[in-house]
Amino acid sequence: MGIRIGADYLSGLQDDRDVWIDGKRVADVTQHPGMCRGAKTLAGFIDRQHQPEYQEKVTYVDDDGDRVAMSFLIPKSKEDIVKRGVAFYEWASWSNGMFGRTADYKNSSLMAFAAANRFLGEGQTDFAQNMMNYYDYVRKNDKVLTHTLVNPQISWELAKEGKYSTKVALQIVKETDGGIVVSGARLLATLGPQADEIEVFPSTLLKASDENLPFAFAFAMPISTPGMRLICRDTYDLGKSNFDAPLSSRYEEMDSVVIFDNVFVPWERVFMYRDPGLCNRAFAETNAVVHMMHQVAAGKLAKTEFLVGLLCAMAKATGRDKDMATKGQIAEAMWMAESVRAFLYSSEQQAHADQWGTFVPLRRPIDTSRNLYPKMYPKLVEMIQLMGASSLMATPCEADFGNEISEDVEQYFQTANLASRDRVALYRLAHDVSVSGFGSRQCLYERFFFGPQFIMAAGYYELYNKDDMIDKVNNLLSQN
Ligand SMILES: Cc1cc2nc3c(=O)[nH]c(=O)nc-3n(C[C@H](O)[C@H](O)[C@H](O)COP(=O)(O)OP(=O)(O)OC[C@H]3O[C@@H](n4cnc5c(N)ncnc54)[C@H](O)[C@@H]3O)c2cc1C
Repeated sequence: MGIRIGADYLSGLQDDRDVWIDGKRVADVTQHPGMCRGAKTLAGFIDRQHQPEYQEKVTYVDDDGDRVAMSFLIPKSKEDIVKRGVAFYEWASWSNGMFGRTADYKNSSLMAFAAANRFLGEGQTDFAQNMMNYYDYVRKNDKVLTHTLVNPQISWELAKEGKYSTKVALQIVKETDGGIVVSGARLLATLGPQADEIEVFPSTLLKASDENLPFAFAFAMPISTPGMRLICRDTYDLGKSNFDAPLSSRYEEMDSVVIFDNVFVPWERVFMYRDPGLCNRAFAETNAVVHMMHQVAAGKLAKTEFLVGLLCAMAKATGRDKDMATKGQIAEAMWMAESVRAFLYSSEQQAHADQWGTFVPLRRPIDTSRNLYPKMYPKLVEMIQLMGASSLMATPCEADFGNEISEDVEQYFQTANLASRDRVALYRLAHDVSVSGFGSRQCLYERFFFGPQFIMAAGYYELYNKDDMIDKVNNLLSQN
């Protein structure tokens, strides 16, 4: 048991999952034209865990002698934190950060909950052992997880009061000797249709009131669980070739709203139950949120490096890389890459033991990265649009290089430093980053996937040690 091969991951998706897209139920995710290539890409990444050039970086041998993914390693030293960071960066570099939901993201949170499992014993029922069993199950079987944290809102008034609508939010409807029964909806499971399991964890802003007891829980179940339905957005994989759509043909990680219709969850899969206070503290006190930020910062570094490379390649195509103003514009993107690198390094090098005896990267630098990136990424996309301009539209397709207009295409799409075919390939990539449906969704993802920006920012403000700085102000004023 341990790391799987990609073929096993793909065959695991061929179950009774209830996935809907484009007005129809999907018979087989691995055959669906809008989802299968994303799943196959992930399968290829899973296979890389076995390849000698990657294996040492992205896996380790656990205490039972099984080779498992590095993201499950419970860090006991700064060196372990650095090893985890190397593995996150390696995974992200396989897609240049364009496949955000590789399994290491959720594994990081699961690892943290397992390492801090005593926290789950603080509720009315001790669910610590359930978490350990689940961690072992996911690690030993190399399962791919998605998660859903957010209840749909029907009204701003209700949300403002910290309440959920019983009409739409996921809630406990029954308790039995064997488990709980839940109904309602949750937003938004990225990779849901292409995952093995879903973690249904608490939203972080549950008001600790009796009214919210039915909404306060955490559990995990297979995607194919009876009564669970995934309703997908439109696909951005439109069946184009890798040349025509270099990103959307490879990295379509589907987003889905998840509906639960009287879904039975056995007690052994429940981790928190009817405890809003515990739910609210869970991600912070287990440090799951910090370990997730670590995976995210490593991924954003890979992504930003790629976009810097793209901007430089675009500038070189026409010789604009000699122009002072262009250099200055691209330098801004370079600063972003170097900022994320510095945050990551600083955080890893200042890793420390937490209250559970687990090492954790220092929160402040990677929390800064997490708060800045939703502003950086749209800016990077804007830079590509401004540099690309009409070239982002002057994009004949691969077939045009082999049909009766090929002479025109070969002639009129060249630039000073690139033959037509290379120029079109480059700008099709820039188009997929900055203009296509895939590119727009990436931008929305970066803005929101870690939660609303104002909530992350307010949390950052609360944790920031402001007193020393206020003292500096007071010191000066006291000298007046
Ligand atoms: C591409 C994508 C993938 C995602 N993947 C996942 C996933 O895998 N799992 C998951 O659980 N979630 C996922 N999310 C959901 C994400 O967590 C939410 O989008 C995010 O928490 C915001 O919630 P919301 O979408 O309900 O927006 P809302 O809360 O409705 O917010 C809408 C806008 O109003 C603003 N706003 C809301 N309340 C206030 C306030 N009190 N004061 C000021 N402004 C306010 C917000 O900042 C935002 O700009 C994903 C989202 C996207 C876009």
